Amino acid sequence: MTDPRRQLPSVDRLLRSPELSPLLADTPRAVVVEAIREVLDQARSLDEVPLHDWAAEVQAAVELRMTPTLRPVLNATGVVLHTNLGRAPLATAAIEAMRQVAGGYSTLEFDLDRGIRGSRQTHCRSLLTELTGADDALVVNNAAGALTLVINEAAEHRDVVISRGELIEIGGSFRIPDILAKSGARMLEIGTTNRTHLDDYRAALDTGAAAVLTVHRSNFEQSGFVATPKPAALAELASQYGVPYVHDVGSGLLVDLGAWGLWGEPRVQQALANGATAVVFSGDKLLGGPQAGCLVGGSDLIGRCRGNPLARALRADKFTLAGLAATLALYRDPDQALSDIPVLRMLTLSAEDLKALAATLVAACPSSLEPRPVPGHSAVGGGAFPDAPLATTLVELTPGQLGAKELLRRLRVGETPVVARVADDKVLLDPRTLAAESLELVGSALARAVA
Ligand SMILES: *Cc1c(COP(=O)(O)O)cnc(C)c1O
Repeated sequence: MTDPRRQLPSVDRLLRSPELSPLLADTPRAVVVEAIREVLDQARSLDEVPLHDWAAEVQAAVELRMTPTLRPVLNATGVVLHTNLGRAPLATAAIEAMRQVAGGYSTLEFDLDRGIRGSRQTHCRSLLTELTGADDALVVNNAAGALTLVINEAAEHRDVVISRGELIEIGGSFRIPDILAKSGARMLEIGTTNRTHLDDYRAALDTGAAAVLTVHRSNFEQSGFVATPKPAALAELASQYGVPYVHDVGSGLLVDLGAWGLWGEPRVQQALANGATAVVFSGDKLLGGPQAGCLVGGSDLIGRCRGNPLARALRADKFTLAGLAATLALYRDPDQALSDIPVLRMLTLSAEDLKALAATLVAACPSSLEPRPVPGHSAVGGGAFPDAPLATTLVELTPGQLGAKELLRRLRVGETPVVARVADDKVLLDPRTLAAESLELVGSALARAVA
């Protein structure tokens, strides 16, 4: 008997076949060759070689290789700061600022006035100090980096005091004990999970600790028999001992969202007013900018951080700095920030706005899915306002025979990927996180998915 594997076509024969040779017009030859090899290898690894549609298999393999893995998706989950989907969508002004520095040269580290080398830190520094009231500011790659940097500068080889109630995990391998270990400081845990008192901090400082750290419990809330000293009292205590008090507030909230029912997230300005020496926060959470880590506070500690080699290792690039500066500039007029920064706009949509968006979405969905508006909830996400009751109007779809899981899958792998939610064999779309212009796109993606 002949080995069926001998019957495989050669790479060359497939490459010259009338079905596949046209591919070479707009696909690099190396990509087509690799795809053919992959398809042949797969066939070879099977015990029996079934009938193959070589051209179709190679075409599919080529398409997979030519499609970028990082591509846009439509977020119909209603999770505003979805870390897996890239957190904050940017304001138009931020995108424009990034575009302007992308294709050419820029003043990244150049002082036009004097014609000499400048600092990349100037671009966000004055905006951050102006908006937060801090003396000084520094921007690095992300908040985890900013925390590592400031703790390294304040307490390398020494103790940093932290409550056992704040040894938290944010997700994506961000765990406070691990970050502190990598920053080169020793973690001095005090208090208990639910209660830590000012006297616990005082006792730790009496042993010669070098810094006090508090971390906002971003993604969970404690209630019941709990106690934590007021930040202002901690700041006062730290200053009595002449050590810095570092406060990681996490989300970078700069405006008061209480009027929209969003309470409990510390604002950066508040943390500084309470006397923190340095405040750490993300650029791409509630602030609504690009991925970045901001450090604001006293000029001595921030200045020392600027000179720390870790600041160089963690430095932000020109796109980040351009996008962050443009986002921050919008905060000079808080009303403009609420309307122009997508994260803030989505969080402050009114019930009527959401109803109207849901109605437009219902009209765009194929009627076979029996789309209908139902009351539901969105989530802030990104570890901010974990228990916020963010009421919304969802669009519920009934996939019937197809099944909700299969409809979700088809939506994900379609030409315009859509990520949605599922509950009780219904697919749920939340218009809160869909731009008004993308509602029609969701409708056509659904039409293709059920076709
Ligand atoms: C999200 C978060 C971080 C990490 O921020 P990144 O910008 O993702 O590095 C750190 N601390 C707190 C309290 C957070 O909520």
